Amino acid sequence: MGDSDKQFTDQLGRPIRDLRISVTDRCNFRCVYCMPKHRFGADYQFLRRSELLTYEEIARLARIFVGVGVRKLRLTGGEPLIRRDLERLVGMLAAIPGVEDISLTTNGSRLTPDMARTLAGAGLKRITVSLDALDDRTFMAINDVSFPVRKVLDGIENAAASGLSPVKVNMVVKKGVNDTNVVPMARFFHGSGHILRYIEYMDVGHSNGWRMDDVMTASEIVTAIDREMPIVPADPNYRGEVAQRWRYVDGGGEIGIIASVTQAFCRDCSRARLSARGNLYTCLFATRGQDLRARVRDPELGDEDLAEFVRGIWRTRRDRYSEIRSEATVSLPKVEMSYIGG
Ligand code: SAM
Ligand code: SF4
Ligand code: SF4
Repeated sequence: MGDSDKQFTDQLGRPIRDLRISVTDRCNFRCVYCMPKHRFGADYQFLRRSELLTYEEIARLARIFVGVGVRKLRLTGGEPLIRRDLERLVGMLAAIPGVEDISLTTNGSRLTPDMARTLAGAGLKRITVSLDALDDRTFMAINDVSFPVRKVLDGIENAAASGLSPVKVNMVVKKGVNDTNVVPMARFFHGSGHILRYIEYMDVGHSNGWRMDDVMTASEIVTAIDREMPIVPADPNYRGEVAQRWRYVDGGGEIGIIASVTQAFCRDCSRARLSARGNLYTCLFATRGQDLRARVRDPELGDEDLAEFVRGIWRTRRDRYSEIRSEATVSLPKVEMSYIGG
């Protein structure tokens, strides 16, 4: 890394360190808060194959992002394990010098022992599995495709058995939908070696009809768990860690709380997002992305041209949506979560 890269920050002094790569806009679930059936129905036009970035294009862009400061890569979607031969992409990314971490966020539905082994073998370091409830009735009401909890739990165990541990388990908490699962989930994962993380329900995209009343706040979550199994705050693993860590007093491991709504962490946000169609977003709540696909497909442009384009975008970045969220911002147009993967 050259000196200029060390100094390289956006308008609020934040460096670029993480890149989330969405590899597909498709998903086999229809989670009601993310891809509700009434919008993502049978006639919904997903991206055509030619509209998606190829693995070669993603790897080239990732190399360029690493050149401007990125150290961590996360694959997401849609459901990333729907895209064929994902391990090929993992392998290509793992070969990029300077990449310190490659992780994947998945709904866990396709994490067979084979898949988990293949991904780990290709160079995947960590995995996050989303699971919003422990009882089938609630979980199926959320995923809306009758997918059973048991198969996701198997996926978590398969990942851990392949060395992708500790597995992180993400639970988005929505009042009146799965808040009664907060404590049972804590009890279930206590002592398991997996790290359960609770996420405040957010107003992403324009599909989910978000209201503040739907959010079970971080402090409500902590209180509910602490009442049953005492927890104390733990130090962050590194500066800018998104999840607040809490440790069970009895030694049963830790949990994380991602308070994106009530305790925004924009001031440390070092994340860029690359959508499945190759748009670059500098915030989860961005209205507009910058077209990298056209540029990566332009034979006139070399790697340094692309790097300069990315630097130019990052230098002008001022995003801090969660810090300024209000009744007025909730109705602003935003990119759908399933395009950029959270
Ligand atoms: N399909 C994969 C999965 O579900 O893990 C990856 C993509 S999904 C969009 C990434 C994460 O975003 C999931 O953990 C999901 O629960 C979370 N998410 C989706 N909509 C959300 C919302 N409105 N608020 C908070 N998190 C949300
Ligand atoms: Fe699919 Fe993940 Fe969105 Fe659920 S949260 S619909 S699994 S992309
Ligand atoms: Fe980063 Fe935007 Fe989220 Fe703030 S709202 S933490 S700037 S992605």
